[in-house]
Amino acid sequence: MARAPFELAGTRIPPGSRAQIDVPVAKLYTHAPLHIPVEVVHGRQPGPVLLVCGAIHGDEINGVEIVRRMLRLASLSRLRGTLIAVPIVNVFGFVQQTRYLPDRRDLNRCFPGSEVGSLGSRVASLFREQIVDLATHIVDLHTGAIHRTNLPQVRAQMKERPATQAMAEAFGVPVILNAELREGSLREYAQSRDVPVLTYEAGEALRFDEWAIAPGVRGVQRVMRLLGMLPADRRRHAPAVAEVANGSSWARSPIDGILRPRARLGARVARGDILGRVADPFGNAEQEVLANADGIVIGMSNLPLANEGEALFHVARFDEIEEAENAVETFHSDFETRQEL
Ligand SMILES: [Zn+2]
Repeated sequence: MARAPFELAGTRIPPGSRAQIDVPVAKLYTHAPLHIPVEVVHGRQPGPVLLVCGAIHGDEINGVEIVRRMLRLASLSRLRGTLIAVPIVNVFGFVQQTRYLPDRRDLNRCFPGSEVGSLGSRVASLFREQIVDLATHIVDLHTGAIHRTNLPQVRAQMKERPATQAMAEAFGVPVILNAELREGSLREYAQSRDVPVLTYEAGEALRFDEWAIAPGVRGVQRVMRLLGMLPADRRRHAPAVAEVANGSSWARSPIDGILRPRARLGARVARGDILGRVADPFGNAEQEVLANADGIVIGMSNLPLANEGEALFHVARFDEIEEAENAVETFHSDFETRQEL
């Protein structure tokens, strides 16, 4: 029996074909309609339905480029299953270059949403009903917030969720955070329906960081191979290693002032190490920002201006710190080798 077409927002996509669909989401004040752009690739052969989405936070644009490159992969002609690619979920925020919606809500705190709620709640509800609920697996693409950058990392529930765990490990970036589910996030909603889901966090908002984009494209492909959606890679690559952090915390600014960072993203640090120094504009009253744990710097502020208590360095803790350090080093050298090729 022939495989059925895939249907999204009223469009039917026959097997072995692809389609771009503009899903109407709302109108601007001007009455101009606004759409969530979606591309569906419906394979000839049956398989999982993977949703890959970016910019649920409108200024986190590395994911937009990851999706664009994904859609150009020649291997998609041999896709098994269905890929739903959504480069920009929060179209309002993307246009305004902001994380939020026009009502200042965070779309990733609005799930599952409601048809009769506020704008955020309605957008979440529409995205969920028209798109998310069709997926059997989800990869949600993020970056650090504005002026903050993240070492490529995956956030996923790593306990009692073997399918999620396998996806997180397959993604192949050095650090996995067994991060708690944020209330109202897409990840929480998907996990509540037993849909395996991971969040990829890499780079900075409003930037294109190649070291975050290239591993993201490879990560999604690795997940698709794991799920049997793409043919196995016959080229011989060293298996990617990832270490699961057992917790993380932020080192904060001890005073108001100007930051001179010392630690770099990906650095291994020991409790008490100096991560940076904060002083007033004259260089008086200087204080050190100290690591509050042994670990790896997985996120940091790129803005040298800090108020007291400002989160400056995100340090992840590991049971096997040596292995985590090696995973980061292997990841960096692998990226550099590929750049030279
Ligand atoms: Zn985000």
